[in-house]
Amino acid sequence: MNPDETMVNAYRPGTPLPPEAQALIDRRTRLLGPAYRLFYETPVHFVRAKGAWLYDAQGAVYLDCYNNVASLGHAHPHVLAATAKQAETYASHTRYLNDTVLDCAEKLLSHFPPDLSQVMFTCTGSEANDLALRICFAATQGTGIVVTENAYHGVTHLMAGASPSLGRGVDLGPHVRLVPAPRDAASFAADVTAAFADLQRHGIKPAALLVDTIFSSDGVIPGAFLGPAVQATHAAGALFIADEVQPGFGRTGAHWWGFQTHAITPDIVTMGKPMGNGYPVAGLVARPEVLAPFGAKARYFNTFGGNAVACATAMAVIEVIEAEDLLTNATRIGAIMAQGLRSLTHEALGQTRQSGLFLGVDILQDGHPSATKAARLVNLLREARVLISATGPRGHVLKIRPPLILTEAQADQFLSATEQALRLL
Ligand code: PMP
Repeated sequence: MNPDETMVNAYRPGTPLPPEAQALIDRRTRLLGPAYRLFYETPVHFVRAKGAWLYDAQGAVYLDCYNNVASLGHAHPHVLAATAKQAETYASHTRYLNDTVLDCAEKLLSHFPPDLSQVMFTCTGSEANDLALRICFAATQGTGIVVTENAYHGVTHLMAGASPSLGRGVDLGPHVRLVPAPRDAASFAADVTAAFADLQRHGIKPAALLVDTIFSSDGVIPGAFLGPAVQATHAAGALFIADEVQPGFGRTGAHWWGFQTHAITPDIVTMGKPMGNGYPVAGLVARPEVLAPFGAKARYFNTFGGNAVACATAMAVIEVIEAEDLLTNATRIGAIMAQGLRSLTHEALGQTRQSGLFLGVDILQDGHPSATKAARLVNLLREARVLISATGPRGHVLKIRPPLILTEAQADQFLSATEQALRLL
C-alpha cells in the first residue's frame, strides 16, 4: 500500500502549483526529508493566526474548523501571558521542588473523578500513551494490547505498533490485537473478550485495552457504549486506558472528557494536544494503585515533561475553559453545526455524528462511502478558505473540529461554505 492511501487529504507531489509554493515544498523536502506530508491538493502557507482565523502569506483569511490543538483559539492572550510570565520567572524541571507542577496537578485533577488522583507529565500524546502502556505492563505483568482497527495512538515505536491507521507499511507489534470499531456496546465487548482470549491463546498475558473515546481515526463514533468493554477488559485481567488526546479538555461539550459520556472511570487517562493550546504539554492521570507497581520498579524523569512553563501554560488553559464556559459554547455551537449539516440535502451527504465541537460526516457516492468525494469536498472548502479534513478506515468521513470559542457567525460561515462546496461537488 502507498503510505499516502491512509491519508486521503495529502498533497500529491507533481500537482502543478504556483512557483513560490513549489519552491517552498522543494526546500522542505530537501531539509526535512521524505516522511512529511502536507494537507490539501494546493497546500496552504500560513504566517499568522488569531482566534479561529488563520492568515496566509498573501493576507487571505481562513476559518479554522480543524485544528484541535489551539482549542481556545490561536494565540489566546491569557495563555500567552501565563507562558511568558513563567518563562521569565522560573523554567526548570521536576527534579527540584516547585509549586507550579503541583498547582497544575491539583487544577487538572479537580476535573476528574476522585479515583483518578495522580498525574504524570509528558510532552506529547505519544509519550503519554507509551508511558500508560508501560504502567499497565508493570501492573498486570502482561504485555497484550487491544486497540481498534483504524486506531492512531502515536509515533514512538510502541505506539506506532499500536496504530493500525498508519497503514500496512508500519508493522503492528506482535502483542497487539485489533477489534472492529464499535457498533454497539455488546458486540464491542464481545470483540474485546475475543481479542484478549486470542492473546492468551498465544501465550501473551493481557495488559490493556486502549481506545480514543471519540474513535476519531475510526470515523468519529460518539456514544455511551464502552461500559461492557471495560468490564470485559477487567475480566481478562487487563486495564482500560482512555486516550483523551482528541476528545479531552471539553471538546465533546457535555463533559471535560470523552470517557464521561460512557459513564465509566478508566484506570488511566492520557491527554495532550489542546492541553497547552499550542505549547507542548501532555500527560496522564491514573488510579494510585495502578501507578504503584510501576513506581516501585522504575524511576520517571522527563526533561521537559512537567517543566514549570508547561505547567503554568496548562493551568492557564484550564482557567480559560472554566472562565469562558467553553463546554457550554461547544455544546451550543456544535448542535447548530450538526443541525445545519443535517438540514442540507445532497446525495453525497450521509450520517452526521456529533459530540460538542467534534463532528464526523459520512460522504457517499451512489450510497457507498467515497474517499474521493470526501477529499474533493475538503479541497473545495480549502479553496473557500475553510479548513477541515477527512478520516476513517475508508477515508470518507469529514473531520470537523473547530476551536471551542467558535461563534454562531463562524458556524454559519462554515455551513454556507459547505453548502456552496456541495453544489460544486
Ligand atoms: N492519540 C490520539 C488519539 C491522537 O490523535 C494523537 C495525535 N494525533 C496522539 C495520540 C499522539 O499525540 P502526539 O502527536 O502529541 O504525540
